[in-house]
Amino acid sequence: MIFDFLFPNRCLDCNQLIDKRDIVCELCLDKVNFSNHNYFDTNSLIEKASLQIPVENAYSLLIYEKESLAQKIIHQLKYNHREKIGKILANWVTQRVDLSKKKPDLLVTVPLHYKKLKQRGYNQLHLFSNQLSAYYQIPVHHTLLKRIKHSRAQAKKNQSERLKTKNAYQLTENINGKHILLIDDVYTTGNTISNIAWEILSNSENVKISILVMAMDI
Ligand SMILES: [Zn+2]
Repeated sequence: MIFDFLFPNRCLDCNQLIDKRDIVCELCLDKVNFSNHNYFDTNSLIEKASLQIPVENAYSLLIYEKESLAQKIIHQLKYNHREKIGKILANWVTQRVDLSKKKPDLLVTVPLHYKKLKQRGYNQLHLFSNQLSAYYQIPVHHTLLKRIKHSRAQAKKNQSERLKTKNAYQLTENINGKHILLIDDVYTTGNTISNIAWEILSNSENVKISILVMAMDI
């Protein structure tokens, strides 16, 4: 296609020409900081998340540091219209995570406020989780939670402002008895995931929460 000819795909790190289905070249793949998380045993994400919510299992694909290649990849996905990166990240997950034991019943994505969705044009979690859903044969729900308030980035807020966003998500359906795998891009403070988890837990019975994120901040 003419588009490919004009804008050939290049490695996000070394700028070398690569296959259009990749994001980094083979050499630079070694520089991507994959976590050593196992979804079932304890790991740093389970430990961190357990301080805020009862969590069944948790997994982060990448470890996110400032200026790292992992950060570059997520940044391209979220802010540079490279929605398809979500698919590649999902493939990286499926190569590493076996969900067949203690299989979740439903994949649930963190919703974007409609203003942000309009601005970005896509929810960066959708291609990612659709791909996971197809591979693991688990249904995905993108609208189980409704984002009801638009807020500035968490980092720019003070403590009292942060507390106000506690009820920023609203459950739209009854999901009693289900094991939910919550999906987000970057786990930093854990506020988003824990707000959503508490909204689910306090409005449902016999629900289990697990977490899967593209990257976690250390
Ligand atoms: Zn490279």
